[in-house]
Amino acid sequence: MRVAATAEALRRAGEDIVDFGAGEPDFPTPGHIKEAGIAAIEANFTKYTSPAGMLELREAICARHAADYGTRYTPAECVATVGGKHAIFNATQVLVSDGDEVIVPIPYWVTYKDVVEYAGGRCVFIRTDPGDGFTLTAAMVQLAMTSKTRAIIINSPNNPSGSIVSIENFEKIVKLAVDHGAYVITDECYCRLQYEGVPFSAASLPGAKTNVVVAGSLSKTYAMTGWRIGYALAPQPVASAIVKVQSQSVSHPSSVAQKAAIAALLGPQDPVDTMLAEYRRRRDFVIPRLREIPGLACGMPQGAFYAYPDVSSLLRESGMENTLEFTERLLREQKVAVVPSEAFGGSGHIRISFATSMGELERGLDRIQAFAAGLSR
Ligand code: PLP
Repeated sequence: MRVAATAEALRRAGEDIVDFGAGEPDFPTPGHIKEAGIAAIEANFTKYTSPAGMLELREAICARHAADYGTRYTPAECVATVGGKHAIFNATQVLVSDGDEVIVPIPYWVTYKDVVEYAGGRCVFIRTDPGDGFTLTAAMVQLAMTSKTRAIIINSPNNPSGSIVSIENFEKIVKLAVDHGAYVITDECYCRLQYEGVPFSAASLPGAKTNVVVAGSLSKTYAMTGWRIGYALAPQPVASAIVKVQSQSVSHPSSVAQKAAIAALLGPQDPVDTMLAEYRRRRDFVIPRLREIPGLACGMPQGAFYAYPDVSSLLRESGMENTLEFTERLLREQKVAVVPSEAFGGSGHIRISFATSMGELERGLDRIQAFAAGLSR
């Protein structure tokens, strides 16, 4: 937030900022989805819907999830939410009570910590190893589990590191959850944006559905961040409790956005492939380019649209304390906005979003290179 505020102030003062901070697609929402939203308005589809979301939308969510991952959910186990963040918020409020522990691997998406604490829970963090590509293993989860463990929040592909959890580890983690009577909350925000292997949902594992809550999102997959549509797929009693929370807070997502979401889920999927191909092209440009910069090391993201380079040796050489200081200086001196790893519970890394044009990527990377060269002189 601090970097974003400084970037905004500099931009208003007329500075030419390259923004690698944004966590959202630079593509417009595909045409057929926009048209469905416009048609909904024209048809006066502008009234309340069911608090769980329209039945037609929940059927579409279940059908899409079945087609993509081989799961079998029914609309009674599905709630349409105001974005994936809202699915995580609702699920956490429903599942977590005072004193419960929730296992959260680092680096984590910022929201998890706050929503767990808001529910009265306590985060138990697991530090994944940069040298091992930030891989999360079941053994790490097992070590963190206690009799108070209520849930484990997993984000694969991960924001910010781009790492994915292997199917074998998901299997073992789900088994641990079943044995402990805990839940795996699986944040599938970037599931369709995976560069290697086949997109996977933990909910597709045999016997997993009783202990898995899926938090899904249309935001990144269909370039629909502002429409605010996500969903929870959960055991029926958990889904019903989520509907209660939702019913007394936001009621339901916008009726117009729900219609657009149906078009996204049931319509042609080739826009997703086209966007993924473009993200891959950018990733394959950005990572080698970052690796050429002396003092900087970078793993290859397996999903999502972020590079997460290690800048710790530049910090050491220049005597900077942390990456917050690094990102503030990068912004002031070279006018490039990136996110410091402290925001994700980590250290020594910065997050660069490549959800921006090739031209901006080239400009920004030149500036980062100049910044690094200035530090190591
Ligand atoms: N999960 C992760 C890891 C994210 O990065 C985001 C958005 O940045 C979300 C969930 C939520 O997205 P939305 O609420 O727009 O669906």
